[in-house]
Amino acid sequence: MFEPGVMFWAERDSLEMVCSLGVRYGQLGIPGGMRLTDATAARWKAALASAGFTLVTVFAAYPGEDYADIPAVARSVGFFPPDTRAARLVRTLAVSDFAARLGVASIACHIGCVPQDAGHADYAAVRDVVRRVCDHAARHGQSFALETGQEPAEVLLGFIGDVDRANLRINFDPANMILYGTGEPIAALQRLAPLVISVHCKDGDWPAPGVDGAMGMERPLGKGSVGIARFVDTLWKAGFRGPLNVERETDDQQERIRDLAGGVQLLRALERA
Ligand code: MG
Repeated sequence: MFEPGVMFWAERDSLEMVCSLGVRYGQLGIPGGMRLTDATAARWKAALASAGFTLVTVFAAYPGEDYADIPAVARSVGFFPPDTRAARLVRTLAVSDFAARLGVASIACHIGCVPQDAGHADYAAVRDVVRRVCDHAARHGQSFALETGQEPAEVLLGFIGDVDRANLRINFDPANMILYGTGEPIAALQRLAPLVISVHCKDGDWPAPGVDGAMGMERPLGKGSVGIARFVDTLWKAGFRGPLNVERETDDQQERIRDLAGGVQLLRALERA
């Protein structure tokens, strides 16, 4: 039986709010500008322990990332933009250290859109950055998970093979495959399942045809094109047993909390079905 969880963000969401949704598992996102002091880590560690809450992943994000459309993502997200690559590597290692102080065994991020062509100018540089993150995380006993969706499953698999690190894994987000138009998510999950260490339960609809670079529309869980029951069933059959972390990225916080609650309820209903 699966446990629902929630993907939530420090400095935006309180642990109290997350616990009020009735979950005891989740993934914590660290905003790019957040100061990662010993005191902050100690405060989180104590709060998690007193709530009996288990974090499965700590996510890194970076200042200057823009998710407005696909060209903006390609230009600004993860390790592909050359100007911020070194600083974002340093930040990711700091997030790994922060996660270690919380006792969390996995870190993750969007590394950006992996190009189809392994001969692309930035491909080898990003591969080397990912190796450095993996090697640092390994010293803390952590895996490093790449979020899916900004490239087709086959391209991601090829890249992971080129990085060649045993602790490099996948955080599978079925909605991203749809929002970025990179492939049917259930087929992608079947292909990637052996590497999946954590998941987002997020929903969405495909980009409108004929609009270059447009992303699809994110939807509350169960209201989009993923087919959540089939997604959960596929995870189970693939042997995945981790928590199902509901994710909702809309700007309106009230709407977001309502949709996170709805997503948790939907997963509990599927569990009973
Ligand atoms: Mg996600």
